[in-house]
Amino acid sequence: MNPEVIKCLIIGSGPAGYTAAIYAARAGLQPILYQGLQPGGQLTITNDVENYPGYRDGVNGPQMMEDFKAQAERFGADIRYGIATNVDFSGKPLMVTIDDNQTLAAHTVIIATGASAKWLGIESEARLNGNGVSACAVCDGFFYRNQEVAIVGAGDTACEEATYLANLCSKVYMIVRRHEMRASQVMQNRVKNNPKIEIIWNAVTEEILGEHAVEGVRIKNMVTGENQEIPVTGFFVAIGHDPNSKIFVDYINHDEQGYLRTIPGSTKTNIDGVFACGDVQDNEYRQAVTAAGTGCMAALDAERYLAANEIH
Ligand code: NDP
Repeated sequence: MNPEVIKCLIIGSGPAGYTAAIYAARAGLQPILYQGLQPGGQLTITNDVENYPGYRDGVNGPQMMEDFKAQAERFGADIRYGIATNVDFSGKPLMVTIDDNQTLAAHTVIIATGASAKWLGIESEARLNGNGVSACAVCDGFFYRNQEVAIVGAGDTACEEATYLANLCSKVYMIVRRHEMRASQVMQNRVKNNPKIEIIWNAVTEEILGEHAVEGVRIKNMVTGENQEIPVTGFFVAIGHDPNSKIFVDYINHDEQGYLRTIPGSTKTNIDGVFACGDVQDNEYRQAVTAAGTGCMAALDAERYLAANEIH
């Protein structure tokens, strides 16, 4: 027996996916949303969100995502645990396999699988994540105003975030693992000319110090072999992100890093009926509010696609 064809399948449960679900449900598309590996997405590892409009006094990340979810469910979105493990977009309907054992057929698929920050992979980093360790200066820098912080990385993101932090913090140590930076010259100059930023070259992070909150960082100079402890209260990791796009890249146009390409001004991909929103297609802004905005766009694009193709 052929599987039932649903109108709208949403993959991913960050601000983009849930916003798509709210709009799709209110439009009568009866969306089914699969939450993926990290229900609630990257915000579930953030303590406080203070820059999402509407939460005047701030909100903690997991609570905000619960609110998004409850709002989607209120309009009848069917939110399920499960990970999309495979897709077949070679024909219509679009086929998506969940947890390697169930296949769904859908007229439209909204990809909202986000991106994951890269981490150093050391034990203290995981233990103190959310308690002084962060991968987003724009999200969490404010909590360390007038304090000393460290940031790891040497790309454009690290330079941009170091500069952002220097506006708030009393001092920023930038830990660079080589004797040069990968970042564009203009971004490097901005960092090098900022008196609040001290660049520590040829250094790798051995351990983030502190039991329940960050108290410092121990780094090792790769040239001299010497260890050094720096007292900081915030530790930012800015060594890049990976878009969660692996199962789609055989079908969907993408850039060299795997970010899905959408037609500018829309969430349309190169495959009719497949839309992408949020961080999986955005290497530039990466904010909850921009992700939510494109989630809305994806649901509207899906609705219009269904109407244009007279799928009721
Ligand atoms: P990148 O991949 O460009 O840079 C990652 C940086 O992290 C590199 O300097 C790398 O060091 C370092 N790194 C990686 N792993 C480790 C590790 N384990 N320990 C220490 N350091 C590590 O990522 P970005 O996020 O900076 O940028 C991604 C893309 O987005 C780029 O194309 C960038 O140009 C773009 N971008 C543009 C912006 C703008 O124009 N305003 C702003 C932000 C991003 P190494 O160099 O030694 O490999």
